[in-house]
Amino acid sequence: MRPIYIFLTVVLAATGCDEDGVGTDPDGGTDTNPVEPSENWDRDIVKTGLEVDMETMTGRATITMGPSESAGASFDVGGLEIDSVASEEGPLLFEVIEGRLDIGLPIEEEESVLIIEYEFYTQAVFEGYMSGGSTLTWPYYCGNLFPCHSHPKDGTAFTLEITGVEAGKTAVYPEAIAFDSPSYQLAWAIGDYVHVPLGTSIEGTEIEMWVFAGNEQAAADGGEGLVEAFGWMEQTLGPYSYGEVAGGVQVEWGAGALGGMEHHPLWHLASGAMGDRDIHVHEAAHGWYGDGIRLACWEDLVLSEGTVTYLTARSLGQAVGSEAEQSVWNDYQSELNYILSSNDSIVWPDSCNELDVLDDGIFTRAVYIKGAYFYRAVAQAVGPDVLDAVLGSFFDEHAGEAATMQEMLDLIQIETGFDPGPLADGWLRSLGNPDA
Ligand SMILES: [Zn+2]
Repeated sequence: MRPIYIFLTVVLAATGCDEDGVGTDPDGGTDTNPVEPSENWDRDIVKTGLEVDMETMTGRATITMGPSESAGASFDVGGLEIDSVASEEGPLLFEVIEGRLDIGLPIEEEESVLIIEYEFYTQAVFEGYMSGGSTLTWPYYCGNLFPCHSHPKDGTAFTLEITGVEAGKTAVYPEAIAFDSPSYQLAWAIGDYVHVPLGTSIEGTEIEMWVFAGNEQAAADGGEGLVEAFGWMEQTLGPYSYGEVAGGVQVEWGAGALGGMEHHPLWHLASGAMGDRDIHVHEAAHGWYGDGIRLACWEDLVLSEGTVTYLTARSLGQAVGSEAEQSVWNDYQSELNYILSSNDSIVWPDSCNELDVLDDGIFTRAVYIKGAYFYRAVAQAVGPDVLDAVLGSFFDEHAGEAATMQEMLDLIQIETGFDPGPLADGWLRSLGNPDA
């Protein structure tokens, strides 16, 4: 995600989640005793298949769970009304407690499939399905849209089907994400959309845009150099993970909203930012860092945002030219000056999943900009081409998995012999500008 330059009010979703759902007893066709619902977050979500009806605001989630040595399965469902839970054999007992769905799922040595039928609701901006027609659940609001594990360390593949769309409007979404991805990656957008093809990358990925009718010029402006930058990332970082088509979708986030969100393969950009090429490249880079490689700890947000903020400048420099790269760094320098003078922060806290990414100040502009300056300092020490190769190796090692920033530091040292620790201490774990 790129920072949104409006006041972002965080209200914990607590809609209609306190009532107890009561599951139906298993029908007579099964000969097992019903398993009581219990809390179990360790059972891995392997695949999430969603069928969403926009007319009735209902969803049917078919969720494949990994094996588990203990009974139960739990999901975030803070903003949902759960209507039924079943396995392929029949209904399962369940209950909803403070936004958490617990299911009576037996111990299984194999994968098991759950079918959860639910209702969802229009939420406040950036907390689920929004009145503007699109969804956004970063960082932990997926439970307002579908049953999920909101923490990115548990990735899931997805399929998605949207029906009941108002006549004359188009729903833009990926039908499948066949790669372990964070829950916040999945999204859809419904509107009066026009499809604008931009071209095919050197690796064969079709890059496209979806804009509201009349905004075709924004697609052209925002797409200038995007096909080339995307191809550079494919060649430098590794194959694109989300299929043969990728691109940007214009969404209505409300007046004053800017920025974008890494909903690969079809990332979203605030309506007024649609013509901003740098933001498209930033969101594109999340296909490798932040989506393709997930965060093991929220405190590692710099591994997502810092890395892609650096890669935005680097990829444009390589794919478009040094002027484009310098222009991005000029913007970063202005932001850095502002951060240092007003709201500087430690961008890589020394803990793991102890802090709240929103409430405890991890999600700030500093994590993007100081993260980018950290990588630039490493590039100046080892050579930018050498750092490119490390970023490619890191993706090769961790694609489809969760990783930490410490693992990045370790790989830089292993592959280059250069210890980036002091630069990380200066840029990521201190206030101020270590170069000043
Ligand atoms: Zn971002």
